[in-house]
Amino acid sequence: MEKQLNLLPINQWNLADTKKPIIISGPCSAETEEQVMTTARSLSKNGITVFRAGIWKPRTRPGSFEGVGSIGLPWLKRVKKETGMHIAIEVANAMHVKEALEAGIDILWIGARTSANPFAMQEIADALNGADVPVLVKNPVNPDADLWVGAIERINKAGITRIGAIHRGFSSYDRSIYRNVPHWQIPIELRSQLPQVPIFCDPSHIAGRRELLQSISQKAMDLDFDGLMIESHCNPDNAWSDAKQQITPESLDIMLESLIIRKMNP
Ligand code: PEP
Ligand code: MN
Repeated sequence: MEKQLNLLPINQWNLADTKKPIIISGPCSAETEEQVMTTARSLSKNGITVFRAGIWKPRTRPGSFEGVGSIGLPWLKRVKKETGMHIAIEVANAMHVKEALEAGIDILWIGARTSANPFAMQEIADALNGADVPVLVKNPVNPDADLWVGAIERINKAGITRIGAIHRGFSSYDRSIYRNVPHWQIPIELRSQLPQVPIFCDPSHIAGRRELLQSISQKAMDLDFDGLMIESHCNPDNAWSDAKQQITPESLDIMLESLIIRKMNP
């Protein structure tokens, strides 16, 4: 059943310089100022206008790299100043929201472990409290469309009117070629319940390895998704997180060129 939310259409977001499909790219994690700047400069040269980087990283096991934290914020501000790109980061609690808003981050996203937890979602919604910022909500790790809808509703009830959804696949214990199984019927179900919410695909976390990025991205384009969030890194094999699924900005450019994009309104 279709639900009513109070939302601003994506063509009225602050991304007016960005055409559909909107491409968001950058490293899984900000590692060093040099890695962030090198990656961002190459992406910007290739026409990418929205830069992503995680500074607080939710990792499955303790002892993995958990992000550089707040010291990465000035690096991202430098990307914005030097390249003019919009900056997107992940927030997982009220402190992250506060620091990101104070730093003037342009877009916030909520990760899959966080959107699975209604208490965490409510804490973030309360911290946002009508802030003038777009928020992208990844699907929860578990294949539950209602939990995803509920997370989006909480953000909208906090007065956020620029909201997008990101499909990043779902955890499964079964063996699969994917790191996270796409279950395309779930984002399709989300779109039927919330047709006003633009939907992005994150082929990087669905795939878990770079060889699958093209076919997953093409599938998202065939389904008329509004954009893609793809991890890229200046030196992917040596990335501190998610090395196997990251690609160079140059490979990203070639991959994007290969996509057949359906033109709904020629
Ligand atoms: C990420 O975008 O790097 C990330 C941690 O993603 P997810 O929440 O989809 O696992
Ligand atoms: Mn990642």
